Amino acid sequence: MNNIEDILWLAEIRKEDIPSVGGKGASLGEMTSVGLPVPTAFVITAQAFRRFLVESKIEDPLFGKLKGLDVENAELLEATAQDVMKLVLKAKMPASLIKNIEEAYNKMGKNVVVAVRSSATAEDLPDASFAGQQETYLNIKGKKDLLEAVQKCWASLYGARAIYYRAKQGFDDRNVDIAVVVQQLVYSQKAGVMFSSHPITGEPTTIIEGSWGLGEAVVSGTVSPDKYVFDQKGKRVIDKYIANKKTEILPDGNNGTKEVAVDKKRQDAVVLSEDEIRKLAKFAKVAEEHYECPQDMEWGIVDGKIFILQSRPITTIQRDLKAGKKSQPAVNGKILLEGQGASPGIASGAVVIISSIKDLAKVKEGNIIVAKMTNPDMVPAMRKSVAIITDEGGMTCHAAIVSRELGTPAAVGTKNATHILKDGQVVTVDGEKGLVFDGAVGQSGSEQTAGAAACAGTAAPAKIITATSIKVNVSLPEAAKRAAATGADGVGLLRVEHLILGLGKTPNWYITNGKENEFIDEVYKGIKIVMDEFNGKPVWVRTLDAPTDEFRNMKGGENEPSEHNPMLGWRGIRRDLQSRDQFRLQVEVFKRLWAEGYDNLGVMFPLVGHPKEFIAAKQLMAEFGVDVENRTLGVMLEIPSSVILVDDFIAAGIKFASFGTNDLIQYTLAIDRNNQNVADMYMPKHPAVLKLIKFAIDRCRKAGVECSICGQAGSDPEMVKWLIETGITSVSANIDAVPKIRETAAKTEAKLILDAARARLN
Ligand code: PEP
Ligand code: MG
Repeated sequence: MNNIEDILWLAEIRKEDIPSVGGKGASLGEMTSVGLPVPTAFVITAQAFRRFLVESKIEDPLFGKLKGLDVENAELLEATAQDVMKLVLKAKMPASLIKNIEEAYNKMGKNVVVAVRSSATAEDLPDASFAGQQETYLNIKGKKDLLEAVQKCWASLYGARAIYYRAKQGFDDRNVDIAVVVQQLVYSQKAGVMFSSHPITGEPTTIIEGSWGLGEAVVSGTVSPDKYVFDQKGKRVIDKYIANKKTEILPDGNNGTKEVAVDKKRQDAVVLSEDEIRKLAKFAKVAEEHYECPQDMEWGIVDGKIFILQSRPITTIQRDLKAGKKSQPAVNGKILLEGQGASPGIASGAVVIISSIKDLAKVKEGNIIVAKMTNPDMVPAMRKSVAIITDEGGMTCHAAIVSRELGTPAAVGTKNATHILKDGQVVTVDGEKGLVFDGAVGQSGSEQTAGAAACAGTAAPAKIITATSIKVNVSLPEAAKRAAATGADGVGLLRVEHLILGLGKTPNWYITNGKENEFIDEVYKGIKIVMDEFNGKPVWVRTLDAPTDEFRNMKGGENEPSEHNPMLGWRGIRRDLQSRDQFRLQVEVFKRLWAEGYDNLGVMFPLVGHPKEFIAAKQLMAEFGVDVENRTLGVMLEIPSSVILVDDFIAAGIKFASFGTNDLIQYTLAIDRNNQNVADMYMPKHPAVLKLIKFAIDRCRKAGVECSICGQAGSDPEMVKWLIETGITSVSANIDAVPKIRETAAKTEAKLILDAARARLN
């Protein structure tokens, strides 16, 4: 055993070395081997870990404790895990191993700051990136801290979740090892992401996005980055978009990061030189050729030196494209709960029950939120969780909309999840079918696998051209990048209320506290992030449409009226017309964006029931200084009265109309869209609903007015087929549904053309 190396440097590693260095280590080694400038790293091998177990004499006691453990006994599991982890943490590392690690660390330079990451390995499993074994320690400096972090990574192999997962998957603990990657941390002065080829069309154009500071700012969507397009065939930069970069993320000198304002001089300055764009594009090509499929890469630059931090197949896009074909692996196990599948994907994790706001602090990365219903206060915690389960709600409730935007699996309307599930219980959510299983029985849809094996042979699909515009719905600015990556033809609904609710204070609070400008700035920033992702494509921003109950938990919410049925109450354009200042602030945001040249911004009014409301809103906008005749103003058709009076809306000058079927169905059928007791009576294809839709499409077509849909029904392929046959002009779908809706549109259009041609022949 001693003749196997404790340490391997990236240059010595290939993908075949997974058993020694784990998936993460192997992937970094592969990247290095093809000449990509990966930050220096070495791996403390799985064999070194084994040597540690044997020489410190803890191997037998450790596996003895785990043998025959009843992992279903949560208390016993937790106690044993603690016990075993203590054993690993307290054991003395062999002196020769300490020496080898310290020598390797010294070779990196003097007291280099590193990241220490665990990389699990298992026989018969190429990338054993099991849940719970991905401990990472950042900003580690000095030998003592390094050795401690390594031992912590090793101990993490025996966390309760990891033991449980292995037991359920039938892995013998003795056959599972762990390697540890020690990598130099790169404090980028500029950084970003790039797609080696166009993510949707597969064309050989590399798209690079970059901004100042650490890459986190670009990845998280905190900043609108510069965008550079490089044509790999002609070997030249064919497009540059220089954004106004107001913030950057920097190390805070205290193991964390901080967001700071970019100084005026650099805000509008070009981030990348021509030479840097070329070099990055070259690395993108190298990676794509090596892995034989388009890559999604992260890069950083320090003092002019480029580092490639990560390269992985463009799986999100591929997964989205496959979404219509139900490509998720089947999950088998004991079903605990059934609800509606509100956001596709499969994920396992420990449950955290949210009964009050206080519980939100308990949510850690990788948990599953279980709540009666989610609300805007929960969005930060929802970002951390791998799945969402609710008692209440249907396909169009808050939890459903936000989960789809975040790409997080969700099962809603399970009726009693908060009673049946317990804090800490491990479950698996199938967000496509709306099922909740006992234990970690699924395969996480978001796990990435290492390197070439994951994508060899898959080619990027060709772009499907449709005459029907296929747009996308966006609610959270952070989802804008994912939304744009679908190749959508624009945004058919930007729900501004999610952005406003996220501010934590009601619009009225800003008004009464003299903070109008703050409100305008925040909303402007959020909308601009979306506008920048959809350069030149139409983006229809909808004015505020939050029912009063959603405002209640916010600062200023105590002044909100208490309504018996907020869905039928003071929301949408009704409220804005009576709250002139609230409306004015929103218009100020639009005016600022129009003044900056965002002419593609259209404004959509929600919940209009009478043409007078459209006329009044337009009139108010004119009073606030908008050239209303030359702006794209339209309405949602979501109350039956607005459909019945659609001719009068057209006469009043709407530029477009969009079906809000979520509301149109509830108001036509008198079925509360958020009430799980009547969820099975909520019928998007009810003949009365279809009759209303057909009527409005016909009238809009005759008048040459764009007619669209942005309700959930626009993400249902069957419904979209019917809508296109009926003559709709555009469809706006959820991010996850865009690829399949585009495919449906293409097929439906082709069939219509074929049928027409055949009819002519006969
Ligand atoms: C709708 O009603 O269909 C719609 C898109 O709006 P919301 O879901 O925000 O009410
Ligand atoms: Mg609506």
